[in-house]
Amino acid sequence: STINKTIIISNRLPVKITEENGEYQLSTSEGGLATGLGSVYKEGNNIWIGWPGIEVPDERKPEVIKKLAAHNLIPVFLTAEEINFYYEGFSNEILWPVFHYLVTYAKFDEVYWGFYRSVNEKFRDTLLDNLNTGDTIWVHDYQLLLLPCLIRFEQPDVTIGFFQHIPFPSFEIFRLIPWREQLIEGMLGADLLGFHTFDDARHFLSAASRLSSSNLSDNVLVYKNRQIVVEAFPMGIDSDKFEELTRNEKVAKYVTSFKASLKNLKTILTIDRLDYSKGILQRLQTFELLLEKHPEYIGKLALYMVVVPSRDTVPKYKELKDQIDQVVGNINARFRTINWVPIHYFYRSFSIEFLSAIYSTADICLVTPMRDGMNLVSKEYVASRTNEDGVLILSEMAGASKELNDALIVNPNNIVDTMETIIKAINMPLEEQITRMKSMRAIVRKFNVHRWVKNFMDKLSEVKSKQESLL
Ligand code: UDP
Repeated sequence: STINKTIIISNRLPVKITEENGEYQLSTSEGGLATGLGSVYKEGNNIWIGWPGIEVPDERKPEVIKKLAAHNLIPVFLTAEEINFYYEGFSNEILWPVFHYLVTYAKFDEVYWGFYRSVNEKFRDTLLDNLNTGDTIWVHDYQLLLLPCLIRFEQPDVTIGFFQHIPFPSFEIFRLIPWREQLIEGMLGADLLGFHTFDDARHFLSAASRLSSSNLSDNVLVYKNRQIVVEAFPMGIDSDKFEELTRNEKVAKYVTSFKASLKNLKTILTIDRLDYSKGILQRLQTFELLLEKHPEYIGKLALYMVVVPSRDTVPKYKELKDQIDQVVGNINARFRTINWVPIHYFYRSFSIEFLSAIYSTADICLVTPMRDGMNLVSKEYVASRTNEDGVLILSEMAGASKELNDALIVNPNNIVDTMETIIKAINMPLEEQITRMKSMRAIVRKFNVHRWVKNFMDKLSEVKSKQESLL
């Protein structure tokens, strides 16, 4: 086809493939990113390239390719070894901890690096097989930092956008990575680089100007005679979907039983993927301090804590899971009474309907990551508060804190202050809750995921036409 198309490329495809009675079943994901980008990859001859999430034997690849093609999806098949070293190794044991400021958790393994490079090349090859001149490419996230440069080498004039969904650390942290120059050079293959916050963009600009031979002025880098723009694009959620869910019948049923099981208790909700960046242990410590220093709240509160299983094959994650189990057990054993238990702990995932019910019912949502690129849970809580009440407590280390100024903002390392903020939230007058929630709801609604996609795509074509006008 000669019509220009847009290609989304990310580590994972927005699908779940399961095998039932020897047949592959495909269900498309309803995650935030998939919804937002749905308006792109489902249109016309646009496509999304990525790993399908399972290991497929050679003889069955044609079947999977065909099933995915019906949804504009194109697979990059990875071996167990590649997943182990490129994804779990380099991406999740080096880039993830360093970019979240936990350098001591990083395992700088040369073997991981070799696989990171070769898998990025594998993504490039699949992309080139599907690329026509005039196409626009949008690369996503930290698993594919080398890809923009690999594509640029083959196709010097193609339009490439890159968005990083996790933080970009300060230069003093980033410089510790053995392969820092190669990573920066990889990213500089893009024409537009997007991050969640202004600080992430600033950190990248600083690292790029120190580690490459580029010239910097404001947020524009000139590198190998090409203008590259670096900007903040704070990602939003599908706020309409979360509002509509509160009117769903199934959700209403969950709300009724949730209220009945927690009657007369002030409910504090926390929802995180299992991850050391989320501050789960520090939060538990804060809650224990509250019960210890303020026994008047014993029998009055419920900490409703959902931890979603994640990366449990990586040793640090398994360790964290064991620690959480232990601390929750200790706190419950220490403070429980005959008919009351302080922490309602779940290690599992829930349906979107159940999530909506707990978001719309909990009095307080406590979001205290040590570091988080954006944090969508905080925005989903706000979008679900159609009664305009409820209190959001939000870590200043979450990207979302830059937008949700009317949350109660805390430094989660300060457990005394965070404890006092929880008490403030418990006692906040309804009027103040409404004032704060109204202003946060306006922001979440306005800067939703559709706006985010449009802002990024518009900027990308603007950057490209500016480059062309300079030629
Ligand atoms: N979530 C989910 N299943 C659950 C609980 C949560 O899919 O059982 C979703 C939640 O709705 C949110 C996402 O997981 O959209 C978490 O995103 P966030 O940005 O807060 O953190 P991340 O996991 O990306 O670090």
